Amino acid sequence: MLVPDVDVAILGGGCAGLSLAARLAKSDFSVRVIEPRSEYINDRTWSFWRSQSDPFEDCVRREWASWTVQGPQGQTLRSSSNMRYQTVESGAFYNRALELIDGGKASSISLGTYASHVSRTGNQWRVDTDAGSLTATNVVDTRPPNRVPTYGQFFLGQEIKTEHPVFNADVVQLMHFRPAQSGGVDFVYILPFAVDQALVEVTSFAPHNPGHEFFTKWLVEEINALNPGQTEILRTEAGALPMQVGFADQNPEGIIRMGLGGGAAKPSTGYAFARNQMQADQVTTALVSGKVPDMRLDSAITRYMDRIFLQVLAVKPERGPALIEALFSKVSPDRLERFLSGSTSTIDRLSVMKALPPLPFLHAAAFPK
Ligand SMILES: Cc1cc2nc3c(=O)[nH]c(=O)nc-3n(C[C@H](O)[C@H](O)[C@H](O)COP(=O)(O)OP(=O)(O)OC[C@H]3O[C@@H](n4cnc5c(N)ncnc54)[C@H](O)[C@@H]3O)c2cc1C
Repeated sequence: MLVPDVDVAILGGGCAGLSLAARLAKSDFSVRVIEPRSEYINDRTWSFWRSQSDPFEDCVRREWASWTVQGPQGQTLRSSSNMRYQTVESGAFYNRALELIDGGKASSISLGTYASHVSRTGNQWRVDTDAGSLTATNVVDTRPPNRVPTYGQFFLGQEIKTEHPVFNADVVQLMHFRPAQSGGVDFVYILPFAVDQALVEVTSFAPHNPGHEFFTKWLVEEINALNPGQTEILRTEAGALPMQVGFADQNPEGIIRMGLGGGAAKPSTGYAFARNQMQADQVTTALVSGKVPDMRLDSAITRYMDRIFLQVLAVKPERGPALIEALFSKVSPDRLERFLSGSTSTIDRLSVMKALPPLPFLHAAAFPK
């Protein structure tokens, strides 16, 4: 019997791949991450409500106890005594993951390497890369999805330093809705790091990406409207995230799929950091105990709620702001935030359901005759 080169080959060293590798570095497994980037840069921030611990808690840049949503009824301020909206800097995350991989018994990363075909030969997998092939007992594929979602979150953001103090550094501007220009649901998101420094992001929930030109024009308008004075752009980020129930690539049986292509994005938000951590925990536990991982993150009822919610946004986008505003103004403290972060607790789910218009109404709005 041939001995594979490694126990686990991880294709893709982004958020999901490194989250898994960081955990497996503490195990007895030999692990190799295959990543095309030759070096990591601070290319994004991941923000989320923390509901569980993970190996990257040291990488939190800032956290907030208050956030606002602004919709047709005005502004809703929510504050929490125990939940925090946190921002993890990808630069710090990548460094921490590389440190953990480096400190592992038999973990390594091949930077500047593309994985291509994966095939089964006997008792092992063969991964072809542009630097030769590698054999492995287990393959975890975290490469970007190879399908286009039917609905998504699209955004462009800039971290800026302003001349004037124009931000409230203690409150995240989560979703401030604007009259829709994209044909979807449009809002501005501001993550304030200081009174004169913030990530300002323009976002659309829409069936198609409105495009770079659309976002650039809108972002400039939003920044100018703040009256910031001289503005320095520190960093730019853009994204296109799937918002679709059941969004995941079909994979050959036996290959573990993680990350956006493995259904990690929460269908109702497109956010994936916290769920990448959940999947990384599930896969680590399964591999260590020799079981097949259960990659499901949502119950049937959560999937149903997400499907109806997304259908309303797709068919009646003009209802989106009021619907989301109702959730933030009616659901009792922390429950909505936990639900949006991936909580599977029945009471959190019921609270969210109670705050929505009755399901038959939503159903009728989503599927008009
Ligand atoms: C700018 C931006 C901001 C975001 N902000 C948030 C946020 O605030 N909160 C949140 O929860 N989510 C956020 N997300 C969504 C989500 O958390 C991220 O997209 C996250 O990085 C997804 O993890 P991933 O591992 O699936 O993908 P990635 O992190 O993109 O990793 C995929 C990896 O696969 C590699 N790869 C590509 N081709 C190959 C190949 N042929 N062989 C091997 N490797 C390959 C890539 O180089 C990459 O490293 C954001 C996304 C973006 C783009």
